[in-house]
Amino acid sequence: METISSGGSVSESSTMILHNAVVVTMDSDCRVFQNGAVFIDKDKIKAIGQSPDILQQFSHVAHHILDLHGQILLPGFINTHVHTSQQLGRGIADDVDLMTWLHHRIWPYESNMTEEDSYISTLLCGVELIHSGVTCFAEAGGQHVTGMARAVELLGLRACLTDSVMDSGDGLPPSWGIRTTDECLQSQKKLYEKHNNTADGRIRIWLGIRTVMNSTDRLLLETRDAARELKTGIHMHVAEIPYENQVVMETRKADHGTVTFLDKIDFLQENLLAAHTVCVNDTEIGFLSRSGVKVSHCAASAMRMLGFARIREMLNAGITVSLGTDGAPSNNRMSIVDEMYLASLINKGREVHENGTTDPTAFPAETLLKMVTINGAKSVLWDNEIGSLEIGKKADMVVINPFSWSMVPIHDCISNLVYCMRTENIVSVMCNGRWIMRDKKILNVDEEEVISLAKEASSKLLRRAGIKLPSRMNVIH
Ligand SMILES: [Zn+2]
Repeated sequence: METISSGGSVSESSTMILHNAVVVTMDSDCRVFQNGAVFIDKDKIKAIGQSPDILQQFSHVAHHILDLHGQILLPGFINTHVHTSQQLGRGIADDVDLMTWLHHRIWPYESNMTEEDSYISTLLCGVELIHSGVTCFAEAGGQHVTGMARAVELLGLRACLTDSVMDSGDGLPPSWGIRTTDECLQSQKKLYEKHNNTADGRIRIWLGIRTVMNSTDRLLLETRDAARELKTGIHMHVAEIPYENQVVMETRKADHGTVTFLDKIDFLQENLLAAHTVCVNDTEIGFLSRSGVKVSHCAASAMRMLGFARIREMLNAGITVSLGTDGAPSNNRMSIVDEMYLASLINKGREVHENGTTDPTAFPAETLLKMVTINGAKSVLWDNEIGSLEIGKKADMVVINPFSWSMVPIHDCISNLVYCMRTENIVSVMCNGRWIMRDKKILNVDEEEVISLAKEASSKLLRRAGIKLPSRMNVIH
């Protein structure tokens, strides 16, 4: 038996005890073990409880015993809306209007990407996700899923990957061309056959709908049916801006907007992950709730481009809401830790709009922690295996060192995790029973090499795409 202090390096485990930790389980009883421990066998949690009990029962069979010295152990965070292939486009569309953002920056960028660019972009994005404690994410629908899958497999992350799917729409770059409905469906089925349940089961393939404005009715309905048949999820941007609702009302003869239209065609179902969902009325919140649709709330990107989402009303209606960072050109930070903090402030502050004053009691810390753990797991249809620390679930977890200037003193551990924690407090991350970051070092890729590859690939890509950013301030060359 090997005993390792928290400074040691264990890249792989067969059986392991993590003990002397504040274990925040996020289970249905919201149990927190002040001096807790977890026993892990390969990729699964086999026991959880008080440290003395776990040590007594399992020390003799544990290959590794790790003392966490009072650090905090949480389920791995789940980021439910990420554009991995946009990471190389961080900073290409700051402080511009929405149409410039889409037509002159993002579409030229995405339409000029190679599979290698997508691979490098996902590596860079994945490094940032892991540093912020993410073990699982849902790709929002991006370029070259095969490139993403290679990166996810290498990094050791868990992900639901989705292609960017559009079979109609104005203003798309001519070089991209519009794929037919059949091509959209066939190519996704191929991706599913090739990648679903690969990387030791860490990769799942979902179906994508970019937006209602880029989809024919046939694509929507056949995507719904294909998802049922494949037993997978659908990731879609829903009701992002008033203009979208307006177009849907005019062209689709819906009374209100996207959600009303999707309800009318019987598209709303439990396996739909609706991102943003900003422009919805009370009736539409009722539709989402009744059909079990999950909502990914991207607080930062909504503030920049979309507006206040009605998250409090959605939670009150019983909708499962989780958090997403969106892509790097919409929210330059891919940190789910920052997103939790922002979501708490934005939704407390949004009450000014509704009631004339902020409400500090809205969105308590527990709610935010649920959104990035168990609600995230429900949103990606994986809560039978992830989202909480429970016997039989996967060993996806994060170790948080709270003993630094950013989190001390810890009078209220749960609130500190939401209101004080920084990405820098996340020290180690385990996914599927394997460490993917230890003592802030990413284990499966060379971080410096990823950064240099990303710098090179992104400048080449911008040149190819003909994207030139106007200079700011008085730059002297
Ligand atoms: Zn998005």
